[in-house]
Amino acid sequence: MLLRGGRVIDPSQRLDAVASLLLSGGRVAWCSASGDPMPAGPHDVVEAAGLVVTPGFVDLHCHLREPGYEHKETIATGTRAAAAGGFTTVCAMANTRPVMDERSVVELVLRIARERGAVRVLPIGAVTRGLEGKALAAMAEMADAGVVAFSDDGQPVWDAVLMRHAMEYGLMFGLPIIDHCQDPALTKGATMHEGSVSARLGVRGWPAVGEDIMVARNIELSRLTGARVHIAHLSTAGGVEMVRRAKAEGLPVTAEVTPHHLTLTHERVLGCGHGLAGLTQGEACGSPEPYDTLARVAPPLRTIGDIEALMAGLNDGTIDCIATDHAPHALEDKLCEFDQAANGISCFETAFGSLMSLVHRGAIDLPLLIGKLTLAPAEILLGSGKQERPAGRSPLAPDGLGTLAVGAPADVVLLDPGAEWTVDPDKFLSKGKNSPLKGVRLKGRVVATYAGGVRVHG
Ligand SMILES: [Zn+2]
Repeated sequence: MLLRGGRVIDPSQRLDAVASLLLSGGRVAWCSASGDPMPAGPHDVVEAAGLVVTPGFVDLHCHLREPGYEHKETIATGTRAAAAGGFTTVCAMANTRPVMDERSVVELVLRIARERGAVRVLPIGAVTRGLEGKALAAMAEMADAGVVAFSDDGQPVWDAVLMRHAMEYGLMFGLPIIDHCQDPALTKGATMHEGSVSARLGVRGWPAVGEDIMVARNIELSRLTGARVHIAHLSTAGGVEMVRRAKAEGLPVTAEVTPHHLTLTHERVLGCGHGLAGLTQGEACGSPEPYDTLARVAPPLRTIGDIEALMAGLNDGTIDCIATDHAPHALEDKLCEFDQAANGISCFETAFGSLMSLVHRGAIDLPLLIGKLTLAPAEILLGSGKQERPAGRSPLAPDGLGTLAVGAPADVVLLDPGAEWTVDPDKFLSKGKNSPLKGVRLKGRVVATYAGGVRVHG
């Protein structure tokens, strides 16, 4: 198949040029930018003129809910939603039922993904048994079964001794520990950012320091152990500054940010028309104000000042990558009192469109944004940082993720950066319709997605 004449952006090759790409046998077979002659045809031609062509997006952080919560999402529906969002590799968190804390659950997820997944699924094993924070999970056997990282995401690993030991094991396996940074005492009963809005609503707030303290602890444990630690969904200006300093000191610390923490503020909890940082409300949104449970997420949506710090961190390399934290929920998990509502946002299908608002307002360059969705997360997965992945480890993450280099898997996305659309969660392929972006106008759309050369969307 020949993708002809698109603007090919591939940060792994520092490529940004109008070019054509040949996909063959599930791999990238040729790129006109190389100057080599095109292999002889015939080829099926897909016109990509006017579109942007990039490697398939790689998501380090999502919740596919299977096994155990199939009413919220399944691996089949979640990966189809991922494909619609341009993602061809997604890393699935361990807070399933049973928890992914031993080999059998990892193997189950991989088997379902192979049979029913639209895109590549890479499992993340739990750090502690049952996510209970009391004893380490079966990390060695899960590493052997093919997990690409360890995380108790949804909860922090609050016990510093356990976290230290987890990092020592992670180091041994060459795999990063991903931590959801939340101090349990400082955030007890908290449902949103502690600030002017929580004060006005009389809602228990989660102060920024409730996140920052755990970021600092993880950085110091990384210094102590030498292990790779990856900070999940960084949301505070203070956290950005700490990660910046850690990197300047050469520590193996990486970080991600979500699309919603870059585009929405805590005012979004007040409902329709509120809290949009650079997005435009089109039609009326669904939720009566105030207390929009759809805007409830952990860590919470924060302030404009935090968004500015996060953008500075993205641009200067402090924040390595963007991850969706796609967290689908059933309607009843959100149709309730604010303090009873589940945390999380169904994010796969709005991620690219909402992130493009940052490009359109000049806050980030498109090639840099694409790198944060492709090359950077792939590098974290493949351990190209300080610790190399031991040879032979995890055949599930083949070399060549997040790149369009010749020989890489033909994971490719066609994007229309100028296409305008209105978010309608009822049309999501995800079972999770829980989006605080209902009715919001986005400019930027995923036109088609190829995973291993197979068209999985568009
Ligand atoms: Zn989390």
